[in-house]
Amino acid sequence: MRLVTFRSQASSRLGALDGEDVIDLASGDPTLPTSMVELIATWDLDRTAAAAARGDRIPVSDVALAPPVIPRKNVIAVGRNYRDHAQEFSDSGFDASTQQTIPDHPMIFTKPPSSIIGHGEAIVLANDPTGTTDYEGEMAVVIGKPAKNVEREKALDHVFGWTVCNDVTARDLQKRHIQWFVGKSPDTFCPLGPCITTRDELPDIRSSWMRTFVNGEKRQEAPISALIFDVESLIVTLSEVMTLHPGDVIATGTGVGVGIGFDPPVYLKHGDVVEISIDGIGTLSNPVE
Ligand code: MG
Repeated sequence: MRLVTFRSQASSRLGALDGEDVIDLASGDPTLPTSMVELIATWDLDRTAAAAARGDRIPVSDVALAPPVIPRKNVIAVGRNYRDHAQEFSDSGFDASTQQTIPDHPMIFTKPPSSIIGHGEAIVLANDPTGTTDYEGEMAVVIGKPAKNVEREKALDHVFGWTVCNDVTARDLQKRHIQWFVGKSPDTFCPLGPCITTRDELPDIRSSWMRTFVNGEKRQEAPISALIFDVESLIVTLSEVMTLHPGDVIATGTGVGVGIGFDPPVYLKHGDVVEISIDGIGTLSNPVE
């Protein structure tokens, strides 16, 4: 299934995408949870599919999509997880850390829930006082079952599904503060969506490609299979120290072709539209204002 959260008459509702329609799950089964985190935590595919078969259909063009999920903890994100991008970032001069270009262990930082916006919502440049806002198209993992001390062979059992993330970054802040948190956390700097594709529908994310377009011009194109640290590795590493909870989100890193890879850098500007597509998930599109 492809699950969304959408807004209708000032309320937030859960839906399933089917072609050009969104199906209102609560209209098909009023006893289903009304938050995505709860739906995931109590996930029952048969019950949700039955609700989708009965529910009211609304043209997706008639609703506003919200972020598909707001995790209970910060969005966990991974830096330098594609070789070509790691080199590009190292060459750009914006990397204030002293790590080697290709890390031995995943470089992990976070973005607060307050930075999350949905498909179609605006990335607001005014939240970056340095005027160096850049995009990063990424595949994001949504955790299904609680994970602690997970073995690699069982890591994917803890994955609920996949979504698309734009790890929008204020480059001068990322460099200036050494720690990346400030540069990664401005309000609206974490577009997420448009939907979560469940793992039963897309079992092998490695066969998908991620592509980023700015105003229709292709800037990034990378196979998910090129991740330096794959989904299993990230879950093993994180779950050694913390419990991952249903609805937690792990943005797995960006490919080559971000704005600071250009000479001179090309930053996002008012009126731009950033679109990130991943096969089997969909296209996350956000205007810049
Ligand atoms: Mg990133």
